[in-house]
Amino acid sequence: MIEFNEPLYVDKSLDYIQEAIRSNHICGDGSFTRKCSGWIEKQTKTAKCLFTTSCTHALEMAAFLSNIQEGDEVLMPSYTFASTADAFVMRGAKLVFVDIRPDTMNIDERLIEAAITDKTKAIAVVHYAGVSCEMDTIMDIANKYNLIVIEDAAQGMMSSYKGQALGTIGDFGCFSFHETKNYSMGEGGALLLKDDSCKERAEILREKGTNRSKFYRGEVDKYSWVGIGSSYLPSELNMAYLWGQLEKAEEINHHRLLLWNKYYELLSPLFNRGILEAPVVPDHCIHNAHMFYIKVKDEDERIRLISFLKVNQIHTVFHYIPLHSAPSGKKYGRFAGKDIYTTKESLRILRLPMHNKLTEDQVEYVCEKIFEFYENAKGITG
Ligand SMILES: *Cc1c(COP(=O)(O)O)cnc(C)c1O
Repeated sequence: MIEFNEPLYVDKSLDYIQEAIRSNHICGDGSFTRKCSGWIEKQTKTAKCLFTTSCTHALEMAAFLSNIQEGDEVLMPSYTFASTADAFVMRGAKLVFVDIRPDTMNIDERLIEAAITDKTKAIAVVHYAGVSCEMDTIMDIANKYNLIVIEDAAQGMMSSYKGQALGTIGDFGCFSFHETKNYSMGEGGALLLKDDSCKERAEILREKGTNRSKFYRGEVDKYSWVGIGSSYLPSELNMAYLWGQLEKAEEINHHRLLLWNKYYELLSPLFNRGILEAPVVPDHCIHNAHMFYIKVKDEDERIRLISFLKVNQIHTVFHYIPLHSAPSGKKYGRFAGKDIYTTKESLRILRLPMHNKLTEDQVEYVCEKIFEFYENAKGITG
């Protein structure tokens, strides 16, 4: 079976986990956390990176640090994972869903301004498939209306927009290191702070409302309960696992891009004949090959293609059920304007296998089978 995803593992990680165990420091904020945060700060050229137990938790921290209050409105796409929404709903916010662009599947920046009301407090953008939203326009709107911008860059590690790393353009950036992402620590995430000004509040929030981070750095001689917070620190065991991968981040990224480009090249005849639609990466965006998706004609064709590929030992998946059509989305949000693309495109998208263990030969095989499906279906596709 060609799996849709396989968790990334590099041999060095096991050595590093053993090193963490031998060092007698396996709780949070030890040397591996420092190594990983330092690496990300350098890689993304950002002021501060705080590792968390998930991207969901990084988003929760961002919502808290943005002072989102009961009744505030937060703009976001409906085509996203539930976590983007949960973080704000937990603070009592109302969600206002904005339609997506059919090309990148990202929030349509041209529709944002019309969705703003006097209750709007923030815009949560999602960089789908590691391809950036139109951040220049979004930041201009945010500045004009004094809104906070939170980037759900869960899929965006190693991607950039006009030379700026994703997650560093808005006020807060959130990464995921879940096992389904390009780099993984099982479960994990990171919060990027654009400037240092809320670093102290963020550290206190992350450390159960205490100033233990300052204590660890020797800046205070004892720590106490100075604010409110939760426990968002990942264990050193997870950080050690991740460190093995970050050391090889370029190599891993290179392999994924190789596979992505191979899919694109081999499927081009189907794209050119209008049988399938290709993923779109604007010229000013560098992506990280987080996923390779295709768009088929409609939901019915997708069902048939998935089962044909499954019979041929290829596992493919689709997502998301638009949030505004889910029970909680109806309860906590509303759609601004018309849903022209969100639902329609969500029913056509199909994600092909993409992970570090995948080989070029396997990509060739997957593409061959897709061709075979459309040849057999000639009557339908013309
Ligand atoms: C994976 C993902 C998340 C959640 O990440 P966790 O680390 O599992 O909490 C949030 N948003 C998007 C867009 C994602 O792809």
